[in-house]
Amino acid sequence: MRKAIYGLVNLVFPDTCRVCDLPLQEVSRIPVCPACLAQPELLQTEFFCVTCRTPFVNRAPLDEAGQCGLCRLGLNGFDQVYSFGSYEGTLRQLIHLFKFGRIEPLARPLGRFLTQVLPENSAFDIVVPMPLHWRRRWQRGFNQSELLAGEIGKHLCKPVRSVARRTRNTAPQAGLTSAKRRRNVQGAFAVKKKVRLDGLHILLIDDVMTTGATASACARALKRAGAARVSLLALARRDRRLGLQDFQEQGSDFA
Ligand SMILES: [Zn+2]
Ligand SMILES: [Zn+2]
Repeated sequence: MRKAIYGLVNLVFPDTCRVCDLPLQEVSRIPVCPACLAQPELLQTEFFCVTCRTPFVNRAPLDEAGQCGLCRLGLNGFDQVYSFGSYEGTLRQLIHLFKFGRIEPLARPLGRFLTQVLPENSAFDIVVPMPLHWRRRWQRGFNQSELLAGEIGKHLCKPVRSVARRTRNTAPQAGLTSAKRRRNVQGAFAVKKKVRLDGLHILLIDDVMTTGATASACARALKRAGAARVSLLALARRDRRLGLQDFQEQGSDFA
């Protein structure tokens, strides 16, 4: 009944796009116009680490093999990163609507961005969503990474298994240096009891990647349970080339 009334109200007072504010032409479960949904672009950079794909302003931080310092020193627990866009503009707004506006149907178009950056001949065994601490999950009502993982699982025809869990509700990472971020999330993840992942190549799904410290800690937990390889697939990454001030502002909406 409430839905029917809502539908009628919607016909009389058409909804507007939550991104650009223009009136929506069609009734949809996603209150975003097609133009805004089509806007996010692949992050293209000239200089980036071949392993974690962190973009850099020049070649200086990369070694001859094309790796950044963190990857060279083995400080990243994952083996490879695939990420779609930069965490700014429309893509950032869409992720906010998805997570904080709780518009769950956005999982489908956002999942399509993820599939664009998947390598063609990848041999992943299972898809694992980045876990939320149970308290945060309870507050939000869902785990955004789980919904995205569902889309990727369908696309790859691979099982989605929520095998990882957060053992601690870590303090927000905003404003912390890269080293402090790594310390902050150390030991914050574990694999559920009796789960063995021996020899598996895992595709770990996350919505936003900042320094990679959180994903790295989760990847280590998966490897402790036997995983052979962990590749990270993220929707957006915070581009530190934007400058420290922007970066810290961006960090304020961590979660
Ligand atoms: Zn729009
Ligand atoms: Zn790297």
